[in-house]
Amino acid sequence: MINHAEAEQKKYAEMLEENKPSECEACSGPLSLEKINLEDYQGGKLYLMEHVPAYVCQSCGEVWIPEPIMEEFEKMIETVKQKKEAAVKSKNIRTVNKSQAKRHKEGK
Ligand SMILES: [Zn+2]
Repeated sequence: MINHAEAEQKKYAEMLEENKPSECEACSGPLSLEKINLEDYQGGKLYLMEHVPAYVCQSCGEVWIPEPIMEEFEKMIETVKQKKEAAVKSKNIRTVNKSQAKRHKEGK
């Protein structure tokens, strides 16, 4: 079985190598690869993508998000929007998946 999260990380790593900027475009400072949280407000709702790789300038603090990451983020928003519509339609149907229930219990 393919670990989806791992595959995603590998895909991002390849994307980042291909798109790696040599220096900050604002101040020419050194960039370091960090995990950041992407946020976007659309239709009064907050969409959040956590721990995405981005380049952070060590000199001025500017965050440079690689184009493929932004595309993934936009795709994720579309997916969430579609899921929400589906959830409204099947409002009265509740199913509990054992592994999901366990994860909820362990979380936080
Ligand atoms: Zn900079």
